[in-house]
Amino acid sequence: MSHKKIETVCVQGGYTPENGEPRQIPIIQSTTFKYSTGEAMAKLFDLEASGYFYSRLQNPTCDTVAQKICELEGGTAAMLTSSGQAANFFAIFNIATCGDHVVAESSIYGGTFNLFSVTMKKMGVDFTFVAPDCTDAELEAAFRPNTKAVFGETIANPALRVLDIERFADAAHRHGVPLIVDNTFATPINCRPFEFGADIVTHSTTKYMDGHGSAVGGAIVDSGRFDWFAHADKFPGLTTPDDSYHGITYAERFGKEGAYITKATAQLMRDFGSTPSPQSAYILNLGLESLHVRMERHCANARAVANYLLDDPRISWVFYPDLENNPDHALAKKYLPNGSCGVISFGVKGGRKAAEKFMSSLKLCAIETHVADARTCCLHPASTTHRQMNDSELEAAGVSADLIRLSCGIESADDLIADIKQALDTLKITA
Ligand SMILES: *Cc1c(COP(=O)(O)O)cnc(C)c1O
Repeated sequence: MSHKKIETVCVQGGYTPENGEPRQIPIIQSTTFKYSTGEAMAKLFDLEASGYFYSRLQNPTCDTVAQKICELEGGTAAMLTSSGQAANFFAIFNIATCGDHVVAESSIYGGTFNLFSVTMKKMGVDFTFVAPDCTDAELEAAFRPNTKAVFGETIANPALRVLDIERFADAAHRHGVPLIVDNTFATPINCRPFEFGADIVTHSTTKYMDGHGSAVGGAIVDSGRFDWFAHADKFPGLTTPDDSYHGITYAERFGKEGAYITKATAQLMRDFGSTPSPQSAYILNLGLESLHVRMERHCANARAVANYLLDDPRISWVFYPDLENNPDHALAKKYLPNGSCGVISFGVKGGRKAAEKFMSSLKLCAIETHVADARTCCLHPASTTHRQMNDSELEAAGVSADLIRLSCGIESADDLIADIKQALDTLKITA
């Protein structure tokens, strides 16, 4: 299917039914699978034959959907996880454990930042954070002899900074480690990080891929290009026998194409069990079938709303990578030529008070902590998620008191603009 255009893969990737088989992917809601002989099952346990035995490790419905995401990203192997958090945890922990170090870009999603800087730090993995626009010297200085990976987001949530994937990939490869890119906001429709040198891609499928606010989930995709044996001393988990799994050496048995995902499945999924339900995988697949159509509309709506906001004198600033005034516009043109995503941030004149009044006057745009949904939603961090901070603390955290994050859905842009306009009218600001 990989020679097909991406729109076709969205609709038909991962599953090709044979004569008389179901047209839609079957939901295999079974924890376990039956075998006729103990010998047949033993082969599965030794990873000598592929097949299913227990849905904590692998399930046919989940694998079908993982295969579609694998084709969308242009990878060689993929797995689903129960959430985006689990995907990013597995992606790192698969190659960096106690005593290791990872370089991460600092504008990443708050949940991921917390996972790295608090929880994984307690597990003995150290992180050095660098600004997305750090100098080459700063990036270089972040590496240590025990560095095992570099991590960033194609478009950071919610900072909307665009990652210079080639620059971060080059730095990672100079130090013999892979670049892991969280591609949640761009989706493979707008950017395929493997084409720019990334080695592993992760997703919170909860966002655009599901797209309907229905199922929390995550995914990890391997490009199959990173040569673990070329840096064998750094990655003993892949290049030496796994005593907990029948003495298998993953990189030897499954090659560059399959080692990383097989290890994450056989070892991490076995031990942590962060597996999605087949029902959730099915719901995710319904979202994927229209991903290409929705992304186009999300981006068109965001562009229309951003342009309206630029011209409204009651708005103090607008931040959206597609706008020419954006500091990352050149990066957006290179990595996201068809558009970035549906999320915009902007400020309302009058600071925190005006922003609060504006938010409560919206009728169509709903106040939610969610983003990347078919329905437009918005958030005023200063009065919700960051409400314990005063204005100067907010400023230090890079969130101004007037900042509003708007995730444009796939409704009519005219209706979204009309809603924003009537909410601004309630402020009675004279420009
Ligand atoms: C939401 C999000 C996550 C976390 O995903 P969950 O599915 O909520 O666990 C990780 N990375 C990015 C970029 C996100 O937007």
